[in-house]
Amino acid sequence: MKFSILTLFPELIETYTNASIIGRAVKSGVISVEAVNIRDFSADSHHKVDDSPFGGGSGMVMTCQPVESAFESLGALKEPARVLLTTPTGRRFDHAMAVELSQCQQIVMLCGHYEGFDDRIKTLIPRIEEVSIGDYVLTGGELPALCMLDSITRLLPGAVQKFSSVEADSFYDGMLDYPHYTRPAEYKGLKVPDVLLSGNHAAIAQWRKQQSLDKTRTNRPDLLEP
Ligand code: SAM
Repeated sequence: MKFSILTLFPELIETYTNASIIGRAVKSGVISVEAVNIRDFSADSHHKVDDSPFGGGSGMVMTCQPVESAFESLGALKEPARVLLTTPTGRRFDHAMAVELSQCQQIVMLCGHYEGFDDRIKTLIPRIEEVSIGDYVLTGGELPALCMLDSITRLLPGAVQKFSSVEADSFYDGMLDYPHYTRPAEYKGLKVPDVLLSGNHAAIAQWRKQQSLDKTRTNRPDLLEP
């Protein structure tokens, strides 16, 4: 799968996607990532990418021209493709959407800054979908783009060593994950639950299922609603 990320700060994208599990997914060809610097496409002699808002008010607005030109530089997209504009006003990203997006061949993400984009970008790039990663406001779209890239990538075959660990994670089966423990079996008087040391796999599976259900009921009852 190819990720094309349009940003004013490509170095933020490159730093993250060169490290750890995502870095390995890039090296092994599970994904490819191109970070396109919107500023490189500004027709302004000073490479300006923003301007003050019509109607007044504080903050700068990202102008249409560099964003549209950066998008056009991508050429024909590998279908099926999706084009996501990061914004707090968009559809809320979640596990179900990550699964949906993991079926794509190419995902384009537009990262805003300042007050965000001139709204006409949605007409100029008609296939744009507005996506939010949650009900809070960040300074830029790079973290939202990376959050989405990361959660989509780990659903792709070969990205995580054991896919069974992805299947056991929170949300995969609609519930939250159960608690995990590792050595030593006792640390500062805190003991690991006996059942996990019993070697009884059926009992361990039953315990984990119950823990998962209890945690979901307590922390996210909304997930259990029909
Ligand atoms: N004026 C915008 C609003 O109130 O909805 C906020 C703009 S924000 C300061 C700058 C950029 O950060 C946005 O254009 C978007 O790319 C990104 N951003 C901030 N919070 C986000 C969120 N929760 N989800 C997705 N993108 C977000």
